[in-house]
Amino acid sequence: MSQVIPATLIAGDGIGPEIVDATLAALDALKAPFEWERQVAGLAGVQQAGDPLPQATLDSIRRTRLALKGPLETPSGGGYRSSNVRLREAFGLYANLRPARTIIPGGRFDNIDLVVVRENLEGLYIGHEHYVPIDGDPHAVAMATGINTRQGCRRLLEFAFDTAIAMGRKKVTIVHKANIMKALTGIFLETGLELYERKYKGKFQLDSVIVDACAMKLVLNPWQFDMLVTTNLFGDILSDLVAGLVGGLGMAPGANIGSEAAIFEAVHGSAPDIAGKGVANPTALMLAAALMLDHCRLPDLAARLRKAIDETLNIDKVRTGDLGGSAGTEAFTQALVSRI
Ligand code: NAD
Repeated sequence: MSQVIPATLIAGDGIGPEIVDATLAALDALKAPFEWERQVAGLAGVQQAGDPLPQATLDSIRRTRLALKGPLETPSGGGYRSSNVRLREAFGLYANLRPARTIIPGGRFDNIDLVVVRENLEGLYIGHEHYVPIDGDPHAVAMATGINTRQGCRRLLEFAFDTAIAMGRKKVTIVHKANIMKALTGIFLETGLELYERKYKGKFQLDSVIVDACAMKLVLNPWQFDMLVTTNLFGDILSDLVAGLVGGLGMAPGANIGSEAAIFEAVHGSAPDIAGKGVANPTALMLAAALMLDHCRLPDLAARLRKAIDETLNIDKVRTGDLGGSAGTEAFTQALVSRI
C-alpha cells in the first residue's frame, strides 16, 4: 500500500455527516491511504467551537493541504460570512473544477461528459458592493465592482489548459462577455488566446463563445462542448446548468484547487429538509472523493470508485429517493461497498 496521506475531514452540516460517513465507508473499502484529521466548520463550527471557521480547522488544512468537506450551512441575509468563501480566500483556491458526466442513462440528455473550470476568487464575486442614497431612499443606487487581473486570469487558464491535457480533452472553450464587458471579461479572453498561442497551440483545439449563446447551445446541443473555462459569475451559473444536464446537483462533484491546498466537496448544500432522515444521496461526495484520489495520483482507486458507483446505480439499480429509487443512504452505501 502506498504511503499514508494526511487529510482534513470536515463532516459539515445537515446531511453532511451522513454522506461523509457513506463516503468514508467507500474509501475504507478501497483501502485509500488517507489519515484523517477531523475538524469542524459552518454551523457545526459555531455550535462546537464558537466559530464558523475555527483556527484549528485552518491550521489543519494548512498542514495537510488537502480536505474533504461536507456542505456547510450559511445563513441568508445576516449572520456570519460563508465559510466556503473564506476557505477559498484563506488558501487561494482559485480554480473550481466541476466535471459532469451522465451516470444514469435515459434522461433528457445522454452521454454527457463535460468539464467546467471556473475562476473562484475574482470577478464580480469579490464582494465590493454598496448603495448610494438619493432623496431619502437609502437604496436608490446599487453598485458592484468586478476585478479580474492578468495574473489571476493566467493562472486559472493555465490550470484549465493543463487539466485539459491531463484529462485528454480535445477542445477547450473560453466563455466570456467581451462584447459588452470589454475590460472585465475581455482581459480573460485576451489572456486565454495569448496563452494558447504562446504555450499550448496544437495540444487541443481552442475556441470561444459569448456566455448567453453558450447557455443556449448547452441546452440545444451540449455534445459540441468538451471543456468550458470561464470567469467566476458565469462559471457559477453555467456549472449548475451543466449539472442539470446530468441529473442535478446530487450527482455533481467539485474541487477547489489552489497553490496552498485543495478542497473536495459535493456541489449541493446541506439539504436541511432531509437531514437526519437517512435518505440523502452520497453520490456527489463520493465522486468528489474520486477527484481527490485523482489529485493524489491514485487514479486506479478513483477509477474503481467511479465504477462501483456506476454499477450500483445501473446494474444493481440501487438508488436513493432523489433518483426515483427507494434506498436509504445506508442501503445504497452497503450495495456500493459490496461492488468495490
Ligand atoms: P441544497 O443543495 O442543500 O438543497 C436543495 C434541494 O436538493 C433540497 O430539496 C435537498 O433536499 C435536495 N438535495 C441536496 N442534496 C441532496 C442529496 N445529496 N441527496 C438528496 N437530496 C439532496 O440547497 P439549499 O437548500 O439552497 O441550501 C441549504 C444550505 O446549504 C444553505 O445554508 C446553503 O448556504 C448551504 N450550501 C452549502 C454549499 C457548500 O457547502 N458547498 C453549497 C450550496 C449550499
